[in-house]
Amino acid sequence: MAGVGPDPLMTMRLYNTLTRREEDFAPLADQTVRMYACGLTVYARGHIGNFRTFVCIDVLRRTLKYVEGYAMRHVMNFTDVDDRTIAGARQAGMDLRRYTDQFIAAFREDARALGLEEVEEMPRATDEANLRAMAGLVAALEKNGHTYLSDGSIYFKISSMPGYGRLARLDHEGMQDGARVDGDTYGKENARDFVLWKGARADEPHWDLVQPSGRPGWHLECSAMALRLLGDSIDIHAGGIDLIFPHHENEIAQSEGATGRPFARFWVHVEYLLVDDEKMSKSLGNTYTIPDLVAKGFRPSAVRYLLLSAHYRKPLNFTWASLAQAEESLRRLTDFLARVDRVERGGGGAHAAIAVRLAEAEAAFAASMRDDLNTAAALGTIFELVRALNSAMDAEEVGAGDVPGIRALFGMVDRVLGILSLRRAEEAAPPVPIGEIEQAIADRQAARRRRDFAAADRIRDALAARGVLLEDNAAGTRWKRK
Ligand code: AMP
Ligand code: ZN
Repeated sequence: MAGVGPDPLMTMRLYNTLTRREEDFAPLADQTVRMYACGLTVYARGHIGNFRTFVCIDVLRRTLKYVEGYAMRHVMNFTDVDDRTIAGARQAGMDLRRYTDQFIAAFREDARALGLEEVEEMPRATDEANLRAMAGLVAALEKNGHTYLSDGSIYFKISSMPGYGRLARLDHEGMQDGARVDGDTYGKENARDFVLWKGARADEPHWDLVQPSGRPGWHLECSAMALRLLGDSIDIHAGGIDLIFPHHENEIAQSEGATGRPFARFWVHVEYLLVDDEKMSKSLGNTYTIPDLVAKGFRPSAVRYLLLSAHYRKPLNFTWASLAQAEESLRRLTDFLARVDRVERGGGGAHAAIAVRLAEAEAAFAASMRDDLNTAAALGTIFELVRALNSAMDAEEVGAGDVPGIRALFGMVDRVLGILSLRRAEEAAPPVPIGEIEQAIADRQAARRRRDFAAADRIRDALAARGVLLEDNAAGTRWKRK
């Protein structure tokens, strides 16, 4: 796949939480980026805070592919067994796998609506191959002297890893040798030996792959899936900033404790989406999902735009006004592109000044994306260009000959940011799902066959009210957009 680069003078710079610095990024081997991103814990539908992290990671992926020209091997998991999923399934009185299926399906819907590219692998922790990998990892850690058994559970002994705490910059003084934590999540002040494998309890699912029988801790799952699918050393490990401690710290301890090799070279963390200056999170009850926003008349493309309007390492406050503003910005872009279509129809040659302006914008856009994914600056460049080209069009200094160049530039921008084609797809989609239209046509025909014309008209009018017109002809009934 051809990217804009790679250009030896213009390397991608990426902030690495491990070193707390921006560094030059290139994959270790065969021009392929091996990236692991922690995915959704599927005990609820993901909210747009979760999706801030996923959209930013999607743009990292797209930048590595389409600006840098690398191939990707990108894994994003589903956490389908942990404290929260088990509690949720128990409350719903459902089997864990069936309970989590519904949130995985919802994630796939939202991911499609937000234009996330499909990644190479989306493993579930409870897939057999992954559970086996977890058992293998526990065995390797036991062999290397990093574990002990207590009350039927297997713990990781953090004092056996001298580097423990490097990612989160923990100070070792507060850590008590031998003190343990059992929960999947806890704070830095509770840096303790953590549970790798929790002994079976009567009300929890458990597996016999590890003795004593039990179930994996959350941290073990990601290490095992990353090592199994990407190998001992990966290029980038990503997630939201709340995962730095304990999740990612523990992943490093487990993976390096087992393999003896450095686990991830770059650690990338996305800052929070906030509501009234608090983290958007289910526990605070301040979340919005994609269907929530769609029900209020906003489109997912505007949500994606909003989530990319700030740099990923800066907190972003969600407000209705900023979402409306994102809609407005997107409209300016689509109005501009519609105007470009009109210019094309109007004819005229190419202008050297336009080509120069486009080349400058392309270079500035790529430079911003290579600068630790500065999406805010990249969007700024695009809006400056739109202003300049609108003025040039006012002055009739743009011709049909300039249009292929303009389209090529916006095509490249769209591959990287993924906003414009998403908006186009939304606009091309029928106002009512196709299945519903087809069902309504069939119901209407049935009503007419039984000569219930009032019912047939009601069906037609109901569709018309939703923006779909029915047309009858000799071949049957067809629908079109109102
Ligand atoms: P979870 O489902 O809790 O495991 O979270 C899935 C991903 O969403 C993780 O990478 C989290 O760090 C991230 N995340 C959760 N809440 C937010 C938020 N308010 N802003 C940005 N990322 C978040
Ligand atoms: Zn993880």
